[in-house]
Amino acid sequence: MKVVGITGGIGSGKSTLAKMFLNRGIPLYDSDSRAKSLMVESAELRNSLVELLGENTYLEDGSLNRAFVASIIFTDKEKLQGVNSLVHPAVFKDFLLWKESQTSPFVVKESALLFENKSDEFCDKIILVTADLELRIKRVMQRDGVSYNQVVDRIKNQMSEEEKIKKADFVLYNDGGLEKLTTEFENLYHQLIESYVY
Ligand code: ATP
Repeated sequence: MKVVGITGGIGSGKSTLAKMFLNRGIPLYDSDSRAKSLMVESAELRNSLVELLGENTYLEDGSLNRAFVASIIFTDKEKLQGVNSLVHPAVFKDFLLWKESQTSPFVVKESALLFENKSDEFCDKIILVTADLELRIKRVMQRDGVSYNQVVDRIKNQMSEEEKIKKADFVLYNDGGLEKLTTEFENLYHQLIESYVY
């Protein structure tokens, strides 16, 4: 089974593209949302995170204290790397298990940090979704109700677009409306189906 990776900086539109594959019946593994679930579900991961970040990592009801974790990892690069080095292997293991149960000729793995976490090495093809920085910031501010500077803080921890473009097999410039993205998706979908199905 082939693995097609979808990545892109925050607000680039990778989830929007990934959902287009899902709507066509291609199984989708959303690494970022699985990471969030595993941080709550996996006892091993919970213990390691508490060891790294302290007791405040989880709220009394057992849920992740997102505000606390965000306040640390978006300002302390070492802690961010520490969290990634704990969460990433857990997600990778979870992805392999998930993949085993899929039967389609290819699956899609969406991850914001595909290159940063070196998951690109396990993908057969990589699609990068990119868009103008100001447009991405505007989209995230609108979607999440956060400030300009909060989005910029998150972007600071991601690899530069130039570096990502060099590493990707397909680059989609999501700088138009949804119609343009849909047309680009259709082209890509047919190329992948031709390579992996026929
Ligand atoms: P993140 O890394 O933060 O999860 P993302 O790369 O997955 O972001 P999306 O959530 O897909 O980005 O898109 C960000 C926002 O921009 C969403 O609200 C989405 O609906 C909107 N959006 C994405 N692409 C377009 C487009 N071509 N036209 C209009 N709105 C778009």
